[in-house]
Amino acid sequence: MSSTSLRTLDALVQAELVPGDPELVAVVQRFAVGVTEHVAEQLRQEGGAGPLARQYLPTVAELDIQPQERADPIGDAAHAPVPGIVHRYPDRVLLKAVHVCPVYCRFCFRREQVGPDGEMLDRAALDAAVAYIAENPGIREVILSGGDPLVMSPGRLAPLVQSIGALPHVDLLRIHTRVPVVDPAHITPELIAALKGGPTPWLVLHVNHASELVGAEQAIADLVDAGIPMLSQSVLLAGVNDEISALEELFRSLLKLRVKPYYLHQGDQAEGTGHFRVPIAKGQALMRALRGRVSGMALPTYMLDIPGGFGKVPVGPVYAKRDGEHWQVLDPQGKGHQVPG
Ligand SMILES: *Cc1c(COP(=O)(O)O)cnc(C)c1O
Ligand code: SF4
Repeated sequence: MSSTSLRTLDALVQAELVPGDPELVAVVQRFAVGVTEHVAEQLRQEGGAGPLARQYLPTVAELDIQPQERADPIGDAAHAPVPGIVHRYPDRVLLKAVHVCPVYCRFCFRREQVGPDGEMLDRAALDAAVAYIAENPGIREVILSGGDPLVMSPGRLAPLVQSIGALPHVDLLRIHTRVPVVDPAHITPELIAALKGGPTPWLVLHVNHASELVGAEQAIADLVDAGIPMLSQSVLLAGVNDEISALEELFRSLLKLRVKPYYLHQGDQAEGTGHFRVPIAKGQALMRALRGRVSGMALPTYMLDIPGGFGKVPVGPVYAKRDGEHWQVLDPQGKGHQVPG
């Protein structure tokens, strides 16, 4: 892993990114902290408060754990047949080869599982995970998740990708990562070659604010130029992107970089994340406001992962409802129209 430097509270305090508040000790004992040098520089430019600081710098608000919050908010554990695999949908599995990330986001839904103490699946566990995929021919897509799979060096990724590529029933390799925006220097020709050494790769970039894309343009261009299609996933976060202008700028910036906005997630009920929560009604209103105003290509689907492991579904807004023999359909301005069908 390259350029992951500030991984302790002391390091963040010394870099003058967070105040030397003794109350933060309890926060970092419970939830991992860390930013890359690249993000530290962005934080300095942001000046201590803003959408990046809010995503990465620990605050005492995280100690406020609410009753409905869970250690495993989306129920991964209920669908883990072998360590490292989450098999919730028939045609695709998550493969969590690493539990470390280049940054530790304060809103993370896997915050109880990720951290510097969880390393990589050991060789035997990784072999067992790949064997599980081999034994289940219904699996068409392997989703490398984590942790962040791109913290792995090309030398570790290449054999893993090749072993998945050797399975004839697997068509797609999907990589979920924050690395192109938090550590763009890690996107090297060797890494790209490793990603291309197996099933057709698709890369899903996790990004929540347009300012994260500054400095990542070349890394993204290198991936797309190499023939790897890119999508994005964002989490709707209070104080980061819960405004029309912030979402519009994020999605427009992504399209310009040839990244198609895929999902906007309702924040999961992870412990100590209440200060990031946005009501679903507000999320729907934001999506409604964007429809018609920005390119349809720019609009992701607004998704909720139902607590307890029941799966992800779109949560609106809804434009059509049954009205007797007809449908009542809203136009982008919110005016209703009766439509046969
Ligand atoms: C989110 C998720 C997926 C991917 O879902 P898509 O809707 O295809 O993006 C697959 N498996 C698990 C366990 C997931 O949580
Ligand atoms: S898993 Fe993703 S959201 Fe969670 S800390 Fe790692 S990079 Fe951030």
